Amino acid sequence: MGLSKTIWSNPTEYLRAESPQNPVLFFAPSAAQAAARRFIDCFPGLVTYAVKSNPEEAMVENLIAAGIKGFDCASPFEIDLIRRLAPGAAIHYNNPVRARHEIAHAVARNVKSYSVDSHSELAKLIEMVPTDGCEISVRFKLPVAGAAYNFGAKFGATVEVAAELLKTVAAAGYIPSITFHPGTQCTDPHAWEAYIREAANVARLAGVRIARLNVGGGFPSHRMTGVVPQIEATCALIDRVATEAFGADRPALVCEPGRALCGDAYAVAARVKALRDDSHVFLNDGVYGSLTELPMIGVIDRYSVLSPEGKLRTGDPVPRVVFGPTCDSVDRLPGELPMPADLAEGDFVIWQGMGSYSTVTNTRFNGFGELQLATVLSLAL
Ligand SMILES: *Cc1c(COP(=O)(O)O)cnc(C)c1O
Repeated sequence: MGLSKTIWSNPTEYLRAESPQNPVLFFAPSAAQAAARRFIDCFPGLVTYAVKSNPEEAMVENLIAAGIKGFDCASPFEIDLIRRLAPGAAIHYNNPVRARHEIAHAVARNVKSYSVDSHSELAKLIEMVPTDGCEISVRFKLPVAGAAYNFGAKFGATVEVAAELLKTVAAAGYIPSITFHPGTQCTDPHAWEAYIREAANVARLAGVRIARLNVGGGFPSHRMTGVVPQIEATCALIDRVATEAFGADRPALVCEPGRALCGDAYAVAARVKALRDDSHVFLNDGVYGSLTELPMIGVIDRYSVLSPEGKLRTGDPVPRVVFGPTCDSVDRLPGELPMPADLAEGDFVIWQGMGSYSTVTNTRFNGFGELQLATVLSLAL
């Protein structure tokens, strides 16, 4: 997908003019740039973008234009993408488990920052990565609180192991740092507090003064009408707690938001293929398409229904079972979604806040999933 040739005013104008039969992703560059500037203004350190959340080139290019200078990459593909689009940018290779050929790839592309959460993977880095100006961040985990998803289930050392790793990193001559990832869609700013305090404890246990603390991603996008992301309050809390926890040894701070930078820059329009016996709504997009995350981290209630002529459906909400287009019964949105009583075949259901983990996780299962991309000045219908 690239940028479409025409820039439309808003989703309604496009849907009325094109009457698309495939799902459409609407991208608002202005929203991506605003999200980046908001973060750069309030985060007390370096803002990097977690590329995996949306590696669309138009997305990455707009973040660069807005001033993002660092990227969290997890694979050789992502490293090459960033080296091509932003040759001078900082790349943090923060996937703590890597094959040797992947490490060699990063070294050859002058990647100078790596994360690690185990003795075996640290041994591989020490063997293959020159120490010269290179940072290794030890990733630790705590029992989760406040996140929509348990990231600690896969990555992160315990506090004790993290302290051992940090000692080894410093003794081997790398720049020692600490990192964590509190989860995703953390709507409670206090998710960061316990992690920052424990990071100071890890450094004390190791007897190592760390250069940087990377507070991860996990900052929320706007999924629920009543839950507005508190980015400024979260950044202020991170700033205060970092000073309290580290005192004179306060490290430089880094963050790596994904969804908070890209999530609210896209909307998705799915079309109603059928209203089966006035009961089930069948859409042309579903959990194997761009709506993958809804069953995993919860529905987004910021959606509207438009008629094919672009008129907002305003009927009283009726709870509906909503299915995607594939023949798999898993392809269903969670629970029952309130839909206007006047919803009809051919209508469009438009979800806001769809920029993260949607373009990348879309599959072509059952022959569906051909997404169209349209660029809009504004995502407001
Ligand atoms: C996925 C990921 C992120 C981005 O997470 P969001 O919830 O999208 O902000 C940041 N850091 C690491 C290590 C990740 O794996």
